[in-house]
Amino acid sequence: MLRAFGLLLFFWLGLAGASAEARTLELTPLLCVGGAEDLEEALALPVSDLDCSADRFAKRDRFLRSHAVIPQDFDTSEQRFSWQTDPAKYESMVLLFIFADGSERRVDVDPQMAARKWFVRTRFSVPVPLAEAPLASIDMVVERPRTYAVTREARLVERGEAGAEHYIRSLVYALLCGLLIVPIVYDLLFMRMLRFRFMVWHAVMTFGMLVFVLSNSGLIFLIFPDAPLGLRWQLNTGTLALSAIAAVFFVLDLLEKGKVPRILSRVLLSFAALVLAVKTISVLDLEPLRIWSHLAFLYAMLPLSITLLAVIGAALFRDSRGAMYLLVAFGGLVIAGVLSILTNLNLYHPPFHVHDFLFAALVLLVLGSSAAVGDRFMVLRVERDRARIRAIKLGRMALTDSLTGLANRRAFDSVEVIEQGQALLVADIDHFKAINDEKGHTTGDAVLCHIASLMRENFAGNPASTIYRLGGEEFAVVFSCSGEEELRRTAEALRHHIDRNVGEDAMGIPHVTISIGGAMGQGLSVEEVFARADDAMYEAKRAGRNRSAIADAEGRVGLVCQGT
Ligand code: GH3
Ligand code: MG
Ligand code: MG
Repeated sequence: MLRAFGLLLFFWLGLAGASAEARTLELTPLLCVGGAEDLEEALALPVSDLDCSADRFAKRDRFLRSHAVIPQDFDTSEQRFSWQTDPAKYESMVLLFIFADGSERRVDVDPQMAARKWFVRTRFSVPVPLAEAPLASIDMVVERPRTYAVTREARLVERGEAGAEHYIRSLVYALLCGLLIVPIVYDLLFMRMLRFRFMVWHAVMTFGMLVFVLSNSGLIFLIFPDAPLGLRWQLNTGTLALSAIAAVFFVLDLLEKGKVPRILSRVLLSFAALVLAVKTISVLDLEPLRIWSHLAFLYAMLPLSITLLAVIGAALFRDSRGAMYLLVAFGGLVIAGVLSILTNLNLYHPPFHVHDFLFAALVLLVLGSSAAVGDRFMVLRVERDRARIRAIKLGRMALTDSLTGLANRRAFDSVEVIEQGQALLVADIDHFKAINDEKGHTTGDAVLCHIASLMRENFAGNPASTIYRLGGEEFAVVFSCSGEEELRRTAEALRHHIDRNVGEDAMGIPHVTISIGGAMGQGLSVEEVFARADDAMYEAKRAGRNRSAIADAEGRVGLVCQGT
């Protein structure tokens, strides 16, 4: 992406150099303007009645007439020229070219023609008709223009050079469109993995910009040659509003929680609502608000941009990581936006093309915000993974007995059925209370831990076994077992193992024994099998303890052997 950015900058700089040489006559300073209620009246206005003062463009009549006298030192006889202006939405337009020999040529420029004769950037071209004499003056009458720029942005440009500029710029804008598609694709791909809302907003914002560049550069007419001029006008401003509103939600969603003061985010959302409201009014295209609704839209973008910067600044002040990326991303665009609005309002004209700056700022915005999205995505993913691991750990803890590390009662309760080919053993320590009473609880705990580790040892060879501490000094084992014979052997082996190994070390643990009851699973519910095994265990207790007893298939209990 950085390479694409470099390539674009290279084109852009080359372009700025190339376009400086085009032989152009800016007509803006030469224009005098008048207003009328119909076309004939506008054309008939005497030149002496036209307004040449500084605020001459701010007329609100239905028909606007402009008149420019071509200076004598700008010779139009050698080469062929085109007249260009900003084709913001209008109803009809007539151009009157008057030559030095008094001859006239009239050209009707209907909006569709303006759409088709697009010239890259917000312009369209009308070839100056051929004549014997050089051009003396140009008159234009436009009906219901939606901005002053239609009248004001007129210029004469030499056709060959203009053509070269047109093609190079078209290429740059096409490249920019390509660049804008990349983050949209990434957003959609990332979104399939993790659904973060800021990605949706980033995709919407970038899509808005893509359509804005397509429409504003005029490339849209390459794809849809019959697209009406009015559509382009609505797209230019509509996509700007869409991008701006999506940018607001993107920034608020992307910045970490607690980094934006609540009052600032409310102000920002209010300005976004204002932009939406003003844009809606301009879409309605009401005659009394024709030019004002557009100006209001541009004015509404100013506080929105400033508050957006303030939000990013406030988050930066609170050490927000995302705000650093956003400052770089939005910085250029906010400057470009302010310049563009100032130019549109005719308050300031920078010494370079605002549109070129705007598009370069768009590239910066897309790259910066994509980096912000990538970074936030990674941070959130790490946080989410950590939360998952914590949840797994907690889940495991919830099912583990904290003293012995065996599975606990809750884990045992989650077993529903003891399958065919499985068996259950229930073991209870004999006279455990006496150990507690005589040697204290600490020794009692040590006995429990020791018994637990001996049980683990005993079942280490049976990977399909789970040992539970059901509570107190009571244990259970669920394990794979072929039948009653193996169950008997396993129960006895366990009893022997405990009998032999407890109380022989030097840790002060007294000798203890256990009584065991067992039952085969047979696909019965755990409650049923437990009841049988428990009965068997109590039978072993009653018979004198340190014994094992097994319940048969009918639940009848039989003692296995006498304890030693
Ligand atoms: P029996 O041979 O009939 O099973 O007699 P017993 O003394 O082993 O049985 P009883 O149910 O009378 O006593 C169980 C004792 O286990 C009572 C309680 O103090 C003790 N106990 C329960 N949980 C723990 C524990 O976590 N640590 C310790 N040290 N003792 C416990
Ligand atoms: Mg006991
Ligand atoms: Mg007990």
